[in-house]
Amino acid sequence: MQIFLPEKIGFCFGVKRALKLTLNEIKRNGKVYILGDLIHNPQVTENLRRRGIKSIEDLSQIREGTLIIRSHGEDPSVIKEARKRKLRVLDTTCPYVLRVQKIVRSLSQKSYQVIIVGTATHPEVKGVIANVTKGRVYVVKNSQEAEKLPFLKKVGIVAQTTENVENFNHIVKNLTKKTRECRIFNTICRIIRERQEETKKLAREVEAVIVVGGHNSSNTHQLVKLCQSLEVKTCFVEKEEELNMKEWKGIKRVGITGGTSTPKEVIEKIKNKLLTTIY
Ligand code: SF4
Repeated sequence: MQIFLPEKIGFCFGVKRALKLTLNEIKRNGKVYILGDLIHNPQVTENLRRRGIKSIEDLSQIREGTLIIRSHGEDPSVIKEARKRKLRVLDTTCPYVLRVQKIVRSLSQKSYQVIIVGTATHPEVKGVIANVTKGRVYVVKNSQEAEKLPFLKKVGIVAQTTENVENFNHIVKNLTKKTRECRIFNTICRIIRERQEETKKLAREVEAVIVVGGHNSSNTHQLVKLCQSLEVKTCFVEKEEELNMKEWKGIKRVGITGGTSTPKEVIEKIKNKLLTTIY
């Protein structure tokens, strides 16, 4: 069996930065809390938990210590409330996500209706929505949902940073026909776009692709969908234990890729398992 990896695997700079800030904070301050997960990867979440970070659902659960704002960002009112409660706030929101929040704030102040291409329930999108100060905000994840939108006079379109480029372009093309004035901001993260391109290339060169990452990771899901759309055998796993080795016998060329929150070591373990178990 030959195994192929894309040029870039492992954490993106936004994830590396969030982890570094958080680990430093754990060292300097024992009481560190987080709303939700720092990033969407179970191995990283478990590792942080073992180092002492506590996950909370509501600010009322804590009275002191540091509140970490996850890399996906947060509702600004939550950050304001945490400061009011005299908590130390460490904001690890990725700069790319902050940029989307800023664009959306400015659009809504200029009376544009905001359309976000992405998933409404994702923490990043919830944080972006919270930055709309005036008017309505719509979230659409595909062309069918975009079709259902009413005619809108003045629209600003942004994307969730992990959105699929083709899906975004397709939706934008349809939406421009339904508006009088439309401002488009392709806010898909540059690193996500590169990962999608590299995954496409990889998928075309192999018989099967293993996509590694958290089952709750949006960008990993996008890579899975991308491979499936290219009709290559696609397997989505979080860890090597999920690999059913019987499935891989007889396959000569396998590609392994991962999301931007997938640790390199997890990919390496999967590669080694394939190489040492299959012969
Ligand atoms: S994938 Fe892009 S937007 Fe998301 S954390 Fe990494 S650098 Fe930031």
